[in-house]
Amino acid sequence: MRFFLVIGAILALACPAAAADADDAADDRHPLAAWAIDTLKDLRTRIEPLSLASWHPAVSVGRAGKGRLLFGVQMPITPGIHVRNPHESWTVPEVVIALQAAHAAVEAAHPDGPDMVIGDISRRNGGRFWPHRSHQHGLDVDMRYFLLGEQPADYKYRMVTRHNFDTARVWTLIEHFYASGQVDRVFVDYRHQRRLYRYARKELKKTAEELAPILSYPRGRYRKDALVRHVRGHHNHLHVRFDAPVAQTLGRLWTVGEALAMQRDIDLQIKGQFDYVVRRGDTLSGIAARNAVSVADLRAWNRLPRRLILRPGRVLKVMRTN
Ligand SMILES: [Zn+2]
Repeated sequence: MRFFLVIGAILALACPAAAADADDAADDRHPLAAWAIDTLKDLRTRIEPLSLASWHPAVSVGRAGKGRLLFGVQMPITPGIHVRNPHESWTVPEVVIALQAAHAAVEAAHPDGPDMVIGDISRRNGGRFWPHRSHQHGLDVDMRYFLLGEQPADYKYRMVTRHNFDTARVWTLIEHFYASGQVDRVFVDYRHQRRLYRYARKELKKTAEELAPILSYPRGRYRKDALVRHVRGHHNHLHVRFDAPVAQTLGRLWTVGEALAMQRDIDLQIKGQFDYVVRRGDTLSGIAARNAVSVADLRAWNRLPRRLILRPGRVLKVMRTN
């Protein structure tokens, strides 16, 4: 654990330089960061996956739409933060800290508010996460909008209208994300952006110039030059994509395929089985071959019917065979 902290701290020292350009960053890297990164890269081939998993810092591999999460952590439930779906809320420590700081910022500005409600983040190993198209590398977080009035006790997403949209709290949250520099982008429905814009202009006396880098509204629903963008389907929840310089710097040491192979080894050792998520175009024989098992075994482990349509997103159990 101490090693993890040391490595994390060292990487944090020089990550902006290392993150800028993976290939010729070597010259700009702080010597300690260079040492830490090279050591991790080297150890990975020499240490048993299981012991690696016991101390290796979290790694975010690839992109939101095609990525994996290695050695991730589960978003903890702490006072004021509710995690709707802990089994699908895996991420990296940098994001945990950023979310807790965001909650603290909202609570400081508007005390005694409702819980911050976290929806899906990533599956334990990242990767395809139906029905999402992104959420694959541990850095995408869905959140319920803060709501006015009575709080739904079930923490589900609710219809959000001008009557229950908690403009002040959502604005504070977004302004915090912007100021933190730790967020890559936020998806918020354009109608809610209009509410935020009007509130910031009228109540907070912000200028249009101050708001331009934060909100796409009113400059056009398809603008991509502001932190907050309109993407369909974000009327009842917002979606935040974090930057995680340490986890992403480490992620550049891995391909998605290497991460997958490592996770497979670790899961087979710990649990005796591995979850394979069906992709478009997969066949049962292809999946069997890739995982060095037989089609008959795959059928038995997953109780597959004789006539089978393999839908993308279906999770198949792959067991350890000796
Ligand atoms: Zn999302």
